[in-house]
Amino acid sequence: MTENGHGPSSNGHNVPAEFPPPVNPAEDYVTGITDPEEERIEVGVAIVGGGPAGLACAIRLGQLLEDEPELAEKLGEVPVAVIEKGKTPGAHLLSGANMVPSAMEELFPDLDPSEWPVEQEVTKDAVYFLTSKFAVPLKPMPPNFRNHGNYVTSIAKLGRWLGEKAEEGGAYILSETAADKLLVEDRIVRGVRSGDKGRDREGKELPNFEPGSDVVAKATVLAEGTLGHLTSTALDYFDLHGSDPQRWELGVKEVWEVPEPLDRVIHTLGWPLRWRPKWKEAGGSFIYPMGENKVGLGLVVGLDTTDATFSVHDAFQEFKTHPFIKKILEGGKRVAWGAKTIPSGGYWSMPKRLSVPGMVMCGDSAGMVNIPRLKGIHYAMHSGIYAAEAIIDALKQDSVNLEAYERKVKDSLIEKDLYQSRNMRQPLSKGLIFGGAMGSMMVATKGAFPGGHWKNEDDAEVPVEIDGAAKSYPKPDNKYIYDKLNSVFASGNATRDDAPNHIKIQQKVPREIAQSWVSMCPAQVYEIPEDQLESDAQTVDVQVVPSNCVQCGAITAKGGRLTPPEGGDGPLYQET
Ligand SMILES: Cc1cc2nc3c(=O)[nH]c(=O)nc-3n(C[C@H](O)[C@H](O)[C@H](O)COP(=O)(O)OP(=O)(O)OC[C@H]3O[C@@H](n4cnc5c(N)ncnc54)[C@H](O)[C@@H]3O)c2cc1C
Ligand code: SF4
Repeated sequence: MTENGHGPSSNGHNVPAEFPPPVNPAEDYVTGITDPEEERIEVGVAIVGGGPAGLACAIRLGQLLEDEPELAEKLGEVPVAVIEKGKTPGAHLLSGANMVPSAMEELFPDLDPSEWPVEQEVTKDAVYFLTSKFAVPLKPMPPNFRNHGNYVTSIAKLGRWLGEKAEEGGAYILSETAADKLLVEDRIVRGVRSGDKGRDREGKELPNFEPGSDVVAKATVLAEGTLGHLTSTALDYFDLHGSDPQRWELGVKEVWEVPEPLDRVIHTLGWPLRWRPKWKEAGGSFIYPMGENKVGLGLVVGLDTTDATFSVHDAFQEFKTHPFIKKILEGGKRVAWGAKTIPSGGYWSMPKRLSVPGMVMCGDSAGMVNIPRLKGIHYAMHSGIYAAEAIIDALKQDSVNLEAYERKVKDSLIEKDLYQSRNMRQPLSKGLIFGGAMGSMMVATKGAFPGGHWKNEDDAEVPVEIDGAAKSYPKPDNKYIYDKLNSVFASGNATRDDAPNHIKIQQKVPREIAQSWVSMCPAQVYEIPEDQLESDAQTVDVQVVPSNCVQCGAITAKGGRLTPPEGGDGPLYQET
């Protein structure tokens, strides 16, 4: 057996983690304040990420500062800044998005749900087991799939709406701005440095070049979402990694306009994922009604799959050919596409501390996702609210100690829910039959049986082999089935072709690893040159087309590293 517990790989060289990206985050992405005083951007609180976590934090800070005029004055002209790499808040957001309403209720106690940016309340739901031809309803329905009382929304729209609320409360949203480095002095986080803009592929300055700036803050909130660039830097630099490695799922989603409204929330298990444990194809689909004429649907699969030809994008296209799904989409048209990862390690993979002097981590950044329920939005928002409260208390005492935030999370539903579901994802990698049975017992006993600590495995430590998944993928017909490039276009991505390469990988790797990156990437960023593809060379080149990237994060989970591209690049999600 190898160190990671797997049998020996056929050539000994097909474990992605053995080909790490050529970066040293703790050195490359941490710096002191370098801008002269007059060129710095001084803010009170710097929030990295305009997703649910960051925006809820900004909104709560605005509410609290209303009652603290002296503190607001002390925080200067920009008491709260949200740094967001997308063109606007929401531009890089993608989710199911079937939302537990508790955080919305807490943040907006005076607003009726009819005033929230949601499509509809969930009143009916169903789960099906799919074979290639049939859809068998699971009755009684596994309790983790119950969604009554939740709300289906578009998180891209929710992000835009929360952004407006944050601005109304006095926050400044610095969109099209990527936070590139963490500013640290004497092991206290002092803010972030934004990335340069206007460089060409070789890194040379173009006529519109703008250098990045130091955004110096009294408190910094990392709310970067899944696979955060500065979060993983902070985990390394401050030694905050949890007891297990983090792991991820990749979700590919489309929104369709349909002639018939869907009357229920649907989840499916089974086909087109293969059930044999050796392929580790654990996951399922969601199909959510979005008002009278739209549905949002997607396929979510763990990134520990072993077949290097397995592609979530293509498996999802295949999924749409199922008669049960086709019937829902019949006569409709695709209006949006996108892809994103979800942290799925849960409780055991959360950082061992959620704060260091001057900085806290919220939401997906800190792994706050309940994967058996596919829920993260409300945890992200609650954590942003707790961060705001702890920061105001600390700033009132001129303190950089933000440990009160950790105590708030520990005493909250975030800790309780994630503890109950702490072992539920792990058995699914051992096949649907064993994993499903074990998962159901864990759900039924709220995590008490069989208890203990089931270890999470690092996705990049799982060896990959070239096998047969791709053989069944259907050819694009541009009606139901789309290829990756067509889909990237539907994400609204308009990144210029000569943008610098923000994907850090080793570019000469064993064929299996190269193929796993090619297949995994939903946006066709990686290519193996044609002649090498046809040869029997064991080591091949990986060519990168960074402008296609939709920043889903999967490459970081599988042995490379996504760094933030120039602010404003990437998708412009409107409906996802
Ligand atoms: C396919 C899929 C289905 C899901 N379904 C559901 C569901 O039905 N219900 C549910 O509750 N949850 C669901 N989730 C999970 C949920 O979407 C997340 O838990 C939630 O979005 C986390 O919010 P966040 O604010 O922590 O991060 P995000 O929503 O990821 O927001 C992070 C923001 O930070 C920005 N950012 C990141 N790094 C930087 C940087 N360095 N500089 C500047 N900006 C940066 C990003 O552009 C982004 O706007 C799903 C997720 C996926 C992918
Ligand atoms: S290059 Fe990496 S981060 Fe970008 S879309 Fe492809 S897998 Fe996702």
